Amino acid sequence: MKKFISALAHILSSPIEYLKGVGPLRADLLKKELGIFTFADMLDHFPYRHIDRTKLNTVAEISPATDFVQVAGVLQGFDIVGQRQGKRLVAQLRDKTGTIELTWFQGLSWVQKQLEVGQSYLAFGKITFYNGFPQIVHPDFEVLSPEKPLEKSFLEPVYSTTEKLKSKGLGARQIAKLTFQLLSMLKEKDIIENLPDSVCKHMDLVGRFKAYNQVHFPQNSNEYERSVKRLKFEELFVAQVRMNLLRSSRHRFSKGVLFEKVGNLFNEFYVKHLPFELTNAQKRVIKEIRTDTARGRQMNRLLQGDVGSGKTIVAVLIMLLAADNGFQSCLMAPTEILARQHYQTIAGLLEKMNIPVRLLTGSTKTAERKKIFNELQEGTLNILIGTHAVIEDVVEFRNLGLVIIDEQHRFGVAQRAKMWKKANIPPHILVMTATPIPRTLAMTAYGDLDYSVIDEMPPGRQPITTVHRYESQRSKVMDFIRTEIANGRQIYIIFPLIEESAKLDYENLMKGYENTKAYFPEPKYWISMVHGRQPAEQKEMNMKRFVEHDTQIMVSTTVIEVGVNVPNASVMIIESAEKFGLSQLHQLRGRVGRGAEKSYCILLTGSKLGKDAFERINIMTQTNNGFEIAEKDLEIRGPGEIEGTRQSGALNFKLASIVQDKGLLDAAKNIAADLIEKDPDLTSAENLQLKSFLHYRKGAVMWSKIS
Ligand code: ADP
Ligand code: MG
Repeated sequence: MKKFISALAHILSSPIEYLKGVGPLRADLLKKELGIFTFADMLDHFPYRHIDRTKLNTVAEISPATDFVQVAGVLQGFDIVGQRQGKRLVAQLRDKTGTIELTWFQGLSWVQKQLEVGQSYLAFGKITFYNGFPQIVHPDFEVLSPEKPLEKSFLEPVYSTTEKLKSKGLGARQIAKLTFQLLSMLKEKDIIENLPDSVCKHMDLVGRFKAYNQVHFPQNSNEYERSVKRLKFEELFVAQVRMNLLRSSRHRFSKGVLFEKVGNLFNEFYVKHLPFELTNAQKRVIKEIRTDTARGRQMNRLLQGDVGSGKTIVAVLIMLLAADNGFQSCLMAPTEILARQHYQTIAGLLEKMNIPVRLLTGSTKTAERKKIFNELQEGTLNILIGTHAVIEDVVEFRNLGLVIIDEQHRFGVAQRAKMWKKANIPPHILVMTATPIPRTLAMTAYGDLDYSVIDEMPPGRQPITTVHRYESQRSKVMDFIRTEIANGRQIYIIFPLIEESAKLDYENLMKGYENTKAYFPEPKYWISMVHGRQPAEQKEMNMKRFVEHDTQIMVSTTVIEVGVNVPNASVMIIESAEKFGLSQLHQLRGRVGRGAEKSYCILLTGSKLGKDAFERINIMTQTNNGFEIAEKDLEIRGPGEIEGTRQSGALNFKLASIVQDKGLLDAAKNIAADLIEKDPDLTSAENLQLKSFLHYRKGAVMWSKIS
């Protein structure tokens, strides 16, 4: 490895302050504002657009839709107007078709000296409209004379920058100048090719040196496109190679506990106590996990299955498999409510088999805790279910072999890492998530994990009917609730509480509660309320009353969101549904449709809906399929916002987008997988450059690598 690192002490890793014209002060700002630390970072600060400086606009063709313009005209006059902050220099530039205003707020005396009425100027900048007149604020301008005709121009790059940078003389144009200067210093050997020859040929990619030059300062749009393609591919490919390397080395080198046999516990449960026939998808997933855990290497697996697809039973069977092989299991849930529910379900399922199961949460009493800790250390306790309380240091296992994490996105990296450490040989990890992640995204973000999916619902489910109702139709909705309650059903009413501490949201919830009470007065109706500000016991108690059908209505915030199972609840009302994201709406809807009764989801919104909100509501009324919804979500919001992937860091591409560049992504994926299969240590001559590049740009550590 040393060999590679020494080879890399080259010009691109130079600190940015050493670039001529930067210096320590501006360097500090570049680091803080744009994350530019080195020459290489500067090159990776790509322009977000180019302006064609060969093109002139006439004043007449400028409209509010116009963005940047370049106008050549004669200066008609100028004046300093306004007071104090409003003080500005306004000049009129006229071409054959009309007049445009040029405005400056700063450097007035300098600008004034440059201006001469009657002279021809070339002005360039972003158009804004002021009092209905087109103007350019702080234009680039230069004298246009017969001796100095329009410069032979090129596509000028425009870079994102910030106000702070601008104030220190690092506007978009200065960044362009610095980048140009940097590129002129660099030789082909400085931006060395990192992709294998065969890959470049196969994908018809331009070389790396050329690509960097052309992406900043393209000769023409065709060259630009080809360079962008090359760099996008490189980004995607390098990420895929990294992930394949991780997975491959885990498969080859990681040691894991061995679940070699399917024993009595598994078989007895399967034959005698399984409450229903497993779906084919459940069977397939169990088989995948069984094979994986019988190899003597650590399993690191993501299990995806839509809400209600039956992940719990899979967890139970795998925990029995662990027990059959003499290992303890631990199941972690993100909230107390969920942990308790899992505990009840699982203890219930295993009741007849005499397998000890215990629950550990923040509110477990001291005596009980002690007992649990003892049993864990003695090895008499097979299955522990809990919240993050199970990862505290005091919790020690005798022989932990399996950790199952439900609803993974709520557990942070650090918490997971702690769990990993609880055994000499790292336990098998099964991460279960109901947040449907589009397959492309999953494979990109979690490509280093193994992946199973339950893509089939248990039989006999009635699809949930989802409708959109406006606030004005509220009383009709309440009538509907009344009928359902009369038929013995239970109702959820969910209020947005985006931030559990947000005061306004909280007040809305309380108002909603009072309002609901007015529609459904005691003693005929009883209402539970659950929200994040309640003490745990109160939450618990309210939940319990609803589960036991002492209350017919549950008014709640999204704390109810994941996993809760009350089969008799058949109506889900979502208040201010426009405020929720798609995946959250889908999760909430998943709380109903769990029993034999026909279920409904009613999305209540105000009368004014934004375009995106309207689209989200529409999608919800059209499909029940979580994966379809996730694909749409990805299209609407882009990958950075999709829940459960934000922390992965694997999707932060600078140029590429896994939605728009799906073709490139697929190619990168296939080629990378193929390459690592053939040369898992990247030792062949053709792959050496790639290997050294990977060492050079270590980048973000993938969380799943923590094991
Ligand atoms: P999730 O995947 O959302 O965690 P659960 O494991 O809570 O789903 O299962 C949802 C409901 O479906 C539970 O009531 C469970 O008992 C039931 N269920 C799971 N698998 C099957 C199956 N194969 N056949 C019938 N019902 C099933
Ligand atoms: Mg679940």
